[in-house]
Amino acid sequence: MIGEMRAFLENEWGISKELLRDALEAEMLTERFAASHELVRNQNSLKVLDGFQSAGIRESHLIGSHGYGYHDFGRDAVDALYARIFRAEAALVRPQLVSGTHAIRAALCGVLRPGDHVVVIPAVPYDTLLPVFGFREAPGSLAEWGITPSGLSIPDILEGEFNLPQNTKAVFIQRSKGYRWQLSISIDLIARLISKIKGRNPRVNVIVDNCYGEFVEEREPTEVGADLVIGSLLKNPGGGLCSTGAYLAGKSDLIERAAVALTAPGLGKEVGPTLGLARNFLMGIFMAPHFVSEALTTSIFASAFFEKLGFKVNPEPAELRTDIIQAIELGSRDAVLAFARGIQRAGPLDQTAIPVAAPMAGYTDEIVMSGGTFVQGGSLELSCDAPLRPPYVAYLQGGLSSLHGKLGVLLAAEETLKTVDKKERIAHERLHS
Ligand SMILES: *Cc1c(COP(=O)(O)O)cnc(C)c1O
Repeated sequence: MIGEMRAFLENEWGISKELLRDALEAEMLTERFAASHELVRNQNSLKVLDGFQSAGIRESHLIGSHGYGYHDFGRDAVDALYARIFRAEAALVRPQLVSGTHAIRAALCGVLRPGDHVVVIPAVPYDTLLPVFGFREAPGSLAEWGITPSGLSIPDILEGEFNLPQNTKAVFIQRSKGYRWQLSISIDLIARLISKIKGRNPRVNVIVDNCYGEFVEEREPTEVGADLVIGSLLKNPGGGLCSTGAYLAGKSDLIERAAVALTAPGLGKEVGPTLGLARNFLMGIFMAPHFVSEALTTSIFASAFFEKLGFKVNPEPAELRTDIIQAIELGSRDAVLAFARGIQRAGPLDQTAIPVAAPMAGYTDEIVMSGGTFVQGGSLELSCDAPLRPPYVAYLQGGLSSLHGKLGVLLAAEETLKTVDKKERIAHERLHS
């Protein structure tokens, strides 16, 4: 795309010739890795289609309910569809689950009881989960309910150097790196971790935070022994079309317990209106494998391009991916803000908005986010988030079209280099004055 759009990108978007030369090379590299994820996309698209057929989805399922939502057969059909796609006994897909964090908390409250222990891998989970577990003191945390959390690293488990306390009821594995410079946990690695853990104690419930991981590989964690997976519909499985919601899929008893934690004992899955959103949910998951693949193209391109420009990237362009997140170490607060400005400038909405760092519920550090997305915080749409803390890493994700994704990455590079150049110039001038 960059080759044929060169003149346009230069004249209309003000991207420099030198930058376009590097971008063209990065794009060629990206295409080399595209074939493998196109295969995964095709397999997952057919898996989802098979889910629609097995669950017998009909036009009447799109209508939905209001009020209490009793006898909402569209909602039950969406649950059956998710269960089939994730090769799980049951699923819970609800607009009443407002985010991934909320769904994770519902699952943990469903499974854990006072006196239980929960092990978290990796040892430091995603920012918003710190107060949920009680790694950071917060009213209502699991720790406050007498449920103790502890963290374990991946090498601890693989080398067998770990201790699962007697009262361990659940092990929580976070697949995606989150806002940290670490490894995302591939499906193969999840399988190995599960076999080690279940080898120690087969009764332990393995819960996988699947955020940003859906449809990136051929298999989902529930296909390699996870008892429960959880994710947000504002990310991959929402297909960029869901305006709210989250899902859980796994063992029937765990799903029932999570439903009870979400609603009330005795009510469980029987209540919860879909409010006309079943159509949104169904169309979203139908499109999800395709849009995830577009987002992956954008991530690989960003990785190749920024590496070429001299930045540290994680993952590197050729590395195996298990989520859609691309981390880029930019090295300064200014550079992160500039990167966010570039992504924002490419958005379909709020193009002229300037992203600024601000505190945000659930996070300790200030966060800068750029979006211009149709769904607030929707992050299968092109977006970037960064906690303002050293070493100043921007986390890029999404892009429903890789054309748009690449434009965003180009603008982000253009903005970032301005700050780097300026800094270098200042240092240079100081040195020579
Ligand atoms: C996004 C995310 C969550 C949940 O976040 P919400 O913003 O509450 O949906 C949890 N874990 C990881 C790794 C995530 O990326």
